[in-house]
Amino acid sequence: MNFSLFGNKFTRHAGITQLMDDLNDGLRTPGAIMLGGGNPAHIPAMDAYFQQLCQEMLSTGTLTEALCNYDGPQGKDTLLTNLSALLRQTFGWDIGPQNIALTNGSQSAFFYLFNLFAGRYEEGSSRKVLFPLAPEYIGYADSGLDEDMFVSVRPQIELLPEGQFKYHVDFDNLTIGDDIGMICVSRPTNPTGNVLTDEELVHLDELAQQHGIPLVIDNAYGVPFPGIIFSDATPLWNANTILCMSLSKLGLPGSRCGIIVGNEQVISAISNMNGIVSLSPGSIGPAIANEMIVRGDLLRLSNDVVRPFYQQRVTETIATIRRYLSPERCLIHKPEGAIFLWLWFKDLPISTETLYQRLKKRGVLMVPGHYFFPGLAEDWPHAHQCLRMNYVPEPEKIEQGIAILAQEVELALSES
Ligand code: PLP
Repeated sequence: MNFSLFGNKFTRHAGITQLMDDLNDGLRTPGAIMLGGGNPAHIPAMDAYFQQLCQEMLSTGTLTEALCNYDGPQGKDTLLTNLSALLRQTFGWDIGPQNIALTNGSQSAFFYLFNLFAGRYEEGSSRKVLFPLAPEYIGYADSGLDEDMFVSVRPQIELLPEGQFKYHVDFDNLTIGDDIGMICVSRPTNPTGNVLTDEELVHLDELAQQHGIPLVIDNAYGVPFPGIIFSDATPLWNANTILCMSLSKLGLPGSRCGIIVGNEQVISAISNMNGIVSLSPGSIGPAIANEMIVRGDLLRLSNDVVRPFYQQRVTETIATIRRYLSPERCLIHKPEGAIFLWLWFKDLPISTETLYQRLKKRGVLMVPGHYFFPGLAEDWPHAHQCLRMNYVPEPEKIEQGIAILAQEVELALSES
């Protein structure tokens, strides 16, 4: 069968697809230590809450109502109203229901947004998405309808005490030409756990406004929900920014609910795209989120349950890493949020791709760093020295995985 250009592009067996297959296979391998994927933790208190909530919504009819009806293409009205009120009250943003559209997961929101602002334009020019700080989220990499739609810039690296480091936007090397159609950052960042400082974000916002292009902020892990952020960071929104949120990391990845907060022109564009691609976004996630807002539970649980859970996990995981790997062996990106640790093996004689293969043979899955540099013009040795691991599984599993990682690192060093 012959596929179209679109078909060929979107059915390509990219490196990332291979990797995702591996991660998935691992799920079926008994005893595998899964430190690779981005599935959020099953926090017992959250699972119990969702079970109870769904039972109550079933008995009041709200769940059946959501299941048995289409929403409009912008998404469930009650959630648009209640969420915009919540964001207005919490942050003082000048928004209403007309500033929010829902999508089937935030992943599809990025597909819409990238192709709305980058790619070929009517007058014959072409524009790209700029990631001002790579490493960035792997899931952005293949979502352009055109080839070569992304460009990214290496960070500055600040070395910190206790074997940690932090990336910063290298504004000296950030050029924004006419070929840039939008700027995009995840904050907190998957894969590194970096949180752009308020100053960096304000500077990016100024640059975006100067160039008349939107600044998209991927808030999948941020505040006010799910709140997986451990440093002080002020959320930013104005009519030139587009904020993307998600219910996934709250513990509801199966609900496939993404949320876009933008100006009315953007929201109307997204609603039209939703209408064409999926008629309307699914209703179950929005019905649950709406109920959580009405009950005052959405922010309460993010603050009191989700954030403390991950904060404790990350502290424990770093202590475990340090029992097995000294700062001379591996540096750790300052963990400021999200559900991952980003490890930097400066002096490892093998690439982290090779390390990944060796770990996989021993039943441990972590993700080699070079996948996380979408749009970087030149290969960068640093990209092959880093590894992403999540801190989602039980601490005993994490410790087993780290012990094997440390053995493989020592083995590689002894071979050189
Ligand atoms: N953005 C970031 C930074 C992510 O890590 C993820 C998922 O892992 C997504 C967006 C997409 O999430 P979802 O489509 O489940 O909302």
